[in-house]
Formats: sequence, structure tokens, C-alpha cells
Amino acid sequence: MHRILADDLSRLPELLQSARDFAAREVTGVSDRPVVGLDRAPGRESLPGEGAGAKGALARFAERWAPGFSGSAGPRYLGFVTGGATPASVAGDWLTSAFDQNVSGAAGSWATALERETVAWLRELFGLGEAHSGAFVTGATVSTTVGLAVAREWVGERLGVDVSRAGAAALGPVEVLSGCPHSSVAKALSVLGVGRDRLRLVPVLPGREAVDVDALEAALAALDGRPAIVVANAGTVDTVDFDDLRAIAALKERYGFWLHVDAAFGGFAALSPAHAHLVDGLDAADSVCVDLHKWLNVPYDAAVQFTRRRDLQVRVFHNAAPYLGPPSGEPDFLHLTPENSRRLRALPAWFSLVAYGRAGHREIVERNVALAARLGEGVGALDRLRLLAPVRLNVVCFTLAEDPTPERVAALADAVAATGEAFLTPTVYGGVPGLRAAFSNWRTSEADTERVLAALTEALSD
Ligand SMILES: *Cc1c(COP(=O)(O)O)cnc(C)c1O
Repeated sequence: MHRILADDLSRLPELLQSARDFAAREVTGVSDRPVVGLDRAPGRESLPGEGAGAKGALARFAERWAPGFSGSAGPRYLGFVTGGATPASVAGDWLTSAFDQNVSGAAGSWATALERETVAWLRELFGLGEAHSGAFVTGATVSTTVGLAVAREWVGERLGVDVSRAGAAALGPVEVLSGCPHSSVAKALSVLGVGRDRLRLVPVLPGREAVDVDALEAALAALDGRPAIVVANAGTVDTVDFDDLRAIAALKERYGFWLHVDAAFGGFAALSPAHAHLVDGLDAADSVCVDLHKWLNVPYDAAVQFTRRRDLQVRVFHNAAPYLGPPSGEPDFLHLTPENSRRLRALPAWFSLVAYGRAGHREIVERNVALAARLGEGVGALDRLRLLAPVRLNVVCFTLAEDPTPERVAALADAVAATGEAFLTPTVYGGVPGLRAAFSNWRTSEADTERVLAALTEALSD
């Protein structure tokens, strides 16, 4: 063994302790540091010939890189839809690395069973029935890619084409309909060989991001019996609008389509009795995507995918190798997702669900919703700002009351970031450049929301 490795091995507990101390300081203090680093990243160094040991690596990281890392785990990073990491999920994540399991049934570990237990808990949390099976993936984009891969296979089944063998080209053009799809849907269609251009936008309701179900029905009727894929949205990123899932699912009685629901963060509405109606009908979906690194507040990267057609999923993702044997009974995860080898991504979620339960996670969701409403009121009360949409759940979408050019809105975002107090991200809603403040972090408090409002006020006075 190389002498530095041997030295690290002999001091393993001490090394893990120093990493723990460093992490604890960083995470505890995240609220007191600037939310985003504004300085340029350091230049690239050459590959170390001789190593510095784990302690040396930690020192170098702390000195060179950590100062420019954002406070995205903290309470006032409201860009994108970010989410932090609950204390228990961080512990679970550490242990995922420490145990370093390859989640494959053939690998001689209980890790597969733990992932199955976690998927079953999540299914229940989101109000899905036993007909849905699921697996962990890295994020909503991959979750949607898996769901649409199964959808593609289903279209093939309808047309008498085995897509997994014959290829996507054998299908001919596939119809994909959606009202207000997330950008990841087009990406997934590109990856799957269906093609970005096959995504057809169906009109949305006036002043909304929810699909006009009558228009969707008309589009389906015009297909004359050709099978289609419908991507419904449960929580759009700008205004957190929800398609009427129940009404869309009811169309399945008359039209043949696969229903995929992108519930990346909107699925968490199911945790709040006051908002659960927004995801009524979710269980009728053929496939569902839910992100976990957003509103479950587990570390990147984690999402779950669900489907009612695991048989088709296995057809797509089956990894045939003599040493693996055929996927019989409950298929191994390596026959269900793009990866073969995969980390025990379920463990952080398992830790958080055990630690805080349904009630704890419900409280996070409800607090974030209340705080978004509070910020929405505050923004509405500022003369120089106006809301671009009502605050439906956890996102405040707003712009300058006057002359909201892309440049002026970007300058406002920069001025907010420069206060060090908050981070918001730009968007364009209804053709108007604006900013979004998305609440999904477990730590965000009322005091934080006031600090965000103060940062906005300060940025506007520049
Ligand atoms: C974030 C998000 C995605 C993509 O999720 P990733 O985890 O970044 O892959 C897809 N759909 C919606 C609605 C989202 O909010």
C-alpha cells in the first residue's frame, strides 16, 4: 500500500472527525455567510504528482474552493427550486458513502431491500397505490426520461413494434402533447430518439399554465386513434400551476394515450391537506416523476420514478448478462433504470423519513407555502414591483412595475445577490422578464423571508 494511503488508513477515525468538524461548521454557519460567492473561481492547478493525504486535501479544499461555494443548502437561496438537506439526510448521505454499496440484488447486500422499502414509503407519501412500482434515479430529468422511455415502449406495444429491439425509428413519429412542459421533457425526448420537435404544445387556460383540457381532448381526437404520450404538469416552475389530472385521466376512457405526470416538486402538495387536491388524480398516471433533492430536502442527487408498467420498463432497461441471470420475480434495480452500478441513493431519504416522518415533512411543505405567501404580500406592497402571477404554492414570480427589460431585471437579480442576503433566479413569464423566489428549504424561517424582502428593497434603491 502506498505510504500515504497506509497513513490515512491508520488515522481513519481522526480524518473522518476532521471532515465532520469542517462540515458541521459550514452547515451551521451557512445562514451567516453570503448566499452566493461573487468572486471568480481560482485557476486550474496541475494534477498532483505526490498526494497530500486526506487531511491535506481537506485543507486545500477549505482554502481554495469552499469559500466560493454557494449557500444553496441554506435558507435564503431561493433560486431555481433548490431544497437543502435535513440533518438526518446528511447523516444518511455520509453513510451511503461510508458503506459504499452497489445497489444490485446480486451484490450480496440488504441495500436493495432498503431501497424497496423507501420507494414504498414514498409511494404512500404521494398518495400512489400499489400498482405503481418505482426506483431511485438522480433527478427529475432522469425520472422523466425513464417514464417517457416506458411510454415509448407502450406506444410500440400499441403499434406492434418492440422498440427496445427495433429502435425508436421503427415507431415513426410519436405524438407528445403537453400544456406547459418543463425543459427536461424536450431533453428526454431528444435522448430517447423521439425528438424534441415531437413535443407539441397544447393551449393553456387563459392567464394560467394549466393545460386547457378541452384543447387537449381536441388534439387527442384529431389523432384518429394513433397512440400518444401526454405529459401533464403538477407544479410548473414559474407559477406552480397544476393541470387538472383527474380530468386528463378521464380522457383515457376515450383516447389511447400514456399519461406521464411531472410532479418534480408539486407532488409534495400531497403532504398538505389544504393543497392535496392539487394532485388529485396523480394515481391514475402511467408514470410519475418526483424530485427528492428539492422538497424532500435530501442532498443532491435524488429523485424517484414510478410506473404502472414495470414489465415494459424491464423491456427497456433489462441488462442481459450471464452473471446476472434473468429478471424474474421482483426485478433488480439494474433492470429498471439507466444505470447498472448505482449508489444507495435511497439511504438519505430513508433517514429523513424515519427521522421526521410524514408530519415533519408536511411541516416543511406548509411552512414554505406560508412563507411564499408572505413574500408575495411583501412584493405586492412594494411600489416598484408587481407580481406576475398569484402565489399558488411555494414560488413568488414577480417583476419590475415599470419597464421590465431583460437587462433591468437581470440587474435587479445581481443587486439582490450582491447584498449577500438572498439569491433569486430570472425567468420569462407570459413574455415578461421576471424573477422567481422558490421556497423549498427546510430551514427557511419568517425572519429569513423578511431578510429577503429587505434585500429586495435595498437592491431596488440602488
Ligand atoms: C426541477 C424540475 C425538473 C428537473 O429536475 P432535475 O432534478 O434538475 O433533473 C423537471 N420538472 C420540474 C417541474 C422541475 O421543477
